[in-house]
Amino acid sequence: MFNALVVKKNEDGKTNAAVEQIGLDDLPAGDVTVAVEYSTVNYKDGLCIGPGGGLVRNYPHVPGIDFAGTVEASDDARYKAGDKVVLTGWRVGEAHWGGYSQKARVKADWLVPLPSGLDTRQAMAVGTAGFTAMLAVMALEDHGIKDGPVLVTGAAGGVGSVATAILAQLGHEVAAVTGRPETADYLTSLGATQIVAREELNETVKRPLEGEVWGGCVDAVGGEMLARLLGQIKYGGSVAAVGLAGGAGLPATVIPFLLRGVNLLGIDSVMQPYENRLRAWERIAKDLPMDKLEAMVHPAVLSDLPGLGRDILKGQVKGRVVVDVNA
Ligand code: NDP
Repeated sequence: MFNALVVKKNEDGKTNAAVEQIGLDDLPAGDVTVAVEYSTVNYKDGLCIGPGGGLVRNYPHVPGIDFAGTVEASDDARYKAGDKVVLTGWRVGEAHWGGYSQKARVKADWLVPLPSGLDTRQAMAVGTAGFTAMLAVMALEDHGIKDGPVLVTGAAGGVGSVATAILAQLGHEVAAVTGRPETADYLTSLGATQIVAREELNETVKRPLEGEVWGGCVDAVGGEMLARLLGQIKYGGSVAAVGLAGGAGLPATVIPFLLRGVNLLGIDSVMQPYENRLRAWERIAKDLPMDKLEAMVHPAVLSDLPGLGRDILKGQVKGRVVVDVNA
């Protein structure tokens, strides 16, 4: 038997999450059984742990959309016992039991080998949020980052923190947008050269085009902020749209696309093919400074998760929460 955070649905439709002992026979079917070492807390995890259940497709459920650990048993030739692996995406933690457990059983296709240069804790300090930040940076690079500062919204959050550190490491000026002025020193330590107050960007678009300011953008916020910043992107520049922490609506016009050739690039970390995942993890190991990654980390244990799930939905988590499932 081993520990897992199990979310159950009560007869009244409400859910509750608690650490319980489960067995290998309880785990869903899969090719590879992993002794999980670390998982993390992402925005989606907040939805899955929380009372509404959000994205959860089956109850009882073990959330945790990512994990890193060691293969314990494998029916797939690509993995053998003792291999270190990382998992993000594929609706694990939503439709299939996830990483908030000392053991997980998943499809081999969903895993990638831990890239050299990262240990399992570092891989989860990155986690889904950081992996997505890397995908966003790679998408911007593919379309060409223009001169001038690159804007990162929701900067003190998970995606934003990692995007800020990677872009700065690659030599870009980074303008970090935050609604928490008290995080300015933290964001500067990650490499941001400019702090932009959320209110400066958080209003419905008034003019479809404003001055050309930003050489590109990683946007974790969406909504009115995304609509507004589209009109400030330099000619031919791109916005990698990652998230919707500020809303799913997009009260924008087509003018920035038509008159400035702005590209709006949608980033999805969930269904990324194996080759892309491998390439992104290798870039993370190469381009994300480990001292900056360490500065983002808050350690947690399984019993902390219900509270942390609430905090992340309120936008109150700074950086990355790393869950030691064996502590
Ligand atoms: P976090 O909660 O860690 O970060 C989100 C940040 O957005 C907050 O820290 C806050 O930053 C800012 N924010 C929160 N609420 C608002 C608001 N109402 N208006 C403006 N800014 C706000 O979440 P993650 O970084 O893990 O995820 C960010 C988004 O990206 C989420 O929507 C998530 O679902 C999505 N996501 C998408 C993925 C994909 O595959 N496309 C993968 C991973 C995440 P600050 O305090 O600095 O302003």
